[in-house]
Amino acid sequence: MDQRYLKQTLNCFERTKEGIPQKCESAIVHREGHSVHVKLISIPHMVHGKVQGVIVIVEDITEFKETEALLRRSEKLTAVGELAAGVAHEIRNPLTSLKGFATLVYSSSEDDKSKEFLQIMLSEIDRINFIVSEFMLLAKPQEKEFGESDLISLLQHVVALLKSQAILKNIVIRTQYECDHFPILGEENQLKQVFVNVVKNAIEAMPDGGTIFVKVKENEKKEAVITFVDQGVGIPEHQLPRIGEPFYTLKENGTGLGLMVSFSIIDNHNGRMRLTSVEGEGTTVEVILPVYENKLVNV
Ligand code: ADP
Ligand code: MG
Repeated sequence: MDQRYLKQTLNCFERTKEGIPQKCESAIVHREGHSVHVKLISIPHMVHGKVQGVIVIVEDITEFKETEALLRRSEKLTAVGELAAGVAHEIRNPLTSLKGFATLVYSSSEDDKSKEFLQIMLSEIDRINFIVSEFMLLAKPQEKEFGESDLISLLQHVVALLKSQAILKNIVIRTQYECDHFPILGEENQLKQVFVNVVKNAIEAMPDGGTIFVKVKENEKKEAVITFVDQGVGIPEHQLPRIGEPFYTLKENGTGLGLMVSFSIIDNHNGRMRLTSVEGEGTTVEVILPVYENKLVNV
């Protein structure tokens, strides 16, 4: 039994013993170690008006819970995301002139103290710029911006981009692609952003080095299943449901925007994205994208 639900579940049984049927949610620990959400219905077993025992019906509702969380997240995202993307766009221009002028003053200044302050201003502007550009990715891409691309070359591109950063941290990125090409329909830059976010998180989770696996295979529904497996610090189970919420970060310098934006982009591409993690062992991120079958239809 999951300790967090122990008291509530025992209460439920106690009340059933008094003859009142009960319903409650609980969680039990699977023999493989992860937690399984369950719904319990406990009914008193009465013989001659006396409670002789308790009958408990247990239903696994883990999948239901996950879908519910996903829905809640995507509803929040559409509303807030569209607004944030709009505002971000407006902030971009004034920010560019601020940066331009600050750089100008910096290069013409002779005073060391001013230079130091300007340096701080410039790096703060860079951070705002970074956050703003993350927000801009939340805008739904227009249909016309969607095009056919090849998932495998997209991934190759991203891996090549991050390889040198990984090597510096003693990390090897290994790829396993079951197919040479996989046609998908989407906005390349946005999809690349998702893969960069995920691989970067994996790199940041492995301060002592290790291996990151990037795999692609096709499932029975002809979708592309992309898995990113790291051997990093992992995510504590109680924090997992909150990962992907805006500004939810466990890093000192994190923004907590990368995964939120990624979830939103994958959603816009009619895909699914899921994180599983074991603290101290590593994290697996699975992204599923539909195949683009236009070509096949035309044949
Ligand atoms: P950020 O990286 O700026 O913190 P993200 O949205 O990318 O924001 O990630 C949110 C949080 O999820 C991170 O702070 C980290 O705690 C956790 N996380 C994401 N990916 C991994 C991973 N591969 N391994 C461990 N923790 C991860
Ligand atoms: Mg990140």
